[in-house]
Amino acid sequence: MSIKYTIPRGTFDVLPKDSYKWEMIETKFRHVANRFGYKEIITPIFEHAEVFERSVGDTSDIVQKEMYRFTDRKGRVFALRPEGTAPVIRSYVENNLGQDNSPTKLFYIGPMFRYDRPQAGRSRQFSQYGIECIGSNNPYYDAEVIQLFYIFLKDIGLQNFSVEVNSVGCATCSESYNQALTEYFTPHLEELCGDCKNRINKNPRRLLDCKVHSCKAIAEHAPLMLDYLDEECQNHFAQVQYYLKLMKVPFVVNSRIVRGLDYYTNTAFEFINNNLGAQNALGGGGRYNKLVEQFGGKPTPGIGFAGGLTRLLISMENENLLSDIEPAPTIYFIAVGEEATLLAIDMIGWMRKNFIHVEFFPDKGSLKAQLKNANRLNARLAIIIGEDELKRNVFLQKDLQTGEQIEFNLESFEELYLS
Ligand SMILES: [Zn+2]
Ligand SMILES: [Zn+2]
Repeated sequence: MSIKYTIPRGTFDVLPKDSYKWEMIETKFRHVANRFGYKEIITPIFEHAEVFERSVGDTSDIVQKEMYRFTDRKGRVFALRPEGTAPVIRSYVENNLGQDNSPTKLFYIGPMFRYDRPQAGRSRQFSQYGIECIGSNNPYYDAEVIQLFYIFLKDIGLQNFSVEVNSVGCATCSESYNQALTEYFTPHLEELCGDCKNRINKNPRRLLDCKVHSCKAIAEHAPLMLDYLDEECQNHFAQVQYYLKLMKVPFVVNSRIVRGLDYYTNTAFEFINNNLGAQNALGGGGRYNKLVEQFGGKPTPGIGFAGGLTRLLISMENENLLSDIEPAPTIYFIAVGEEATLLAIDMIGWMRKNFIHVEFFPDKGSLKAQLKNANRLNARLAIIIGEDELKRNVFLQKDLQTGEQIEFNLESFEELYLS
């Protein structure tokens, strides 16, 4: 008996019935990104584990619990990338991408990996699209990045989502906020989970996105960052909101947004779809003004976002945006008899060279079976050449929607399909 293999838990195959949807979304994202002046960057799917430990934060859930870490044959410690920003910043610094144009605008699409409990909208390998705008602290760019995400979702037709923005402050206002958080959580120490007990002094902000129920309940009444912003950060946040209004991007301020990564400063935001259930974030992002420095670059501010492809697809299915877009062949070619088949192969080669989508199955059986198959594939036209047609030097074109049939001269073939 042979062994049947199964796919690793928390992963999935993108099957042909869905892959064209992925392609469509990726193409739209590339188009929007290009319109805003972003250029694609492709980084490896694994990096030195430190790239994430230092930037995402070694007290974060992502690094502590969810990262796929492995040692190679030479004993080097690598990690499958759990997110896209750190690799882009690593590459930005390594390749001096900030030298001639500022800000540097980059986008990426690709798989990320997190060891997390699989559920609807969350898998261990997941595909993300994202952008990074590196080199300016102008709040205009915070708004522009949010606007890009907004226009992308509108481009693919999505209606049911909201934009939620917050400011998590700079390092200075963070300090007083962290102190307030420690003071707030300390009396509840006994009710907190083990992780939170450890994090309370090192990084109290992580307690705000702990997934343990009892911690969540306590975090609900924790002090709000917005009450601890210094004047500069308050102004920055006000400017972002002003530009968003100017750009006609509807948004709400949600002071609970903290994001699960350590590197955010000032603006943080999420795109929420409440029809998605518990995993309701389509994506999010924020400003990371200290990150480039952490990677050994000159102090350089930056901002970006990332969104998940699967949740986008689920949202689109929910809004019936994916029904009629499967690409169908223009022509389904049917040849009956050996001589007609040889002629068909010649004609089909010419058509495919001329960018016409043609389907051809030399062994699908009778004319009736072939036409049935053509309809199953949603082909627009069928071209039929049998012995009779061959004798008369013609071919038959049948419109598969209307049933209309027209005979054409074989000689006029190329001219007919070039237009
Ligand atoms: Zn501040
Ligand atoms: Zn906890």
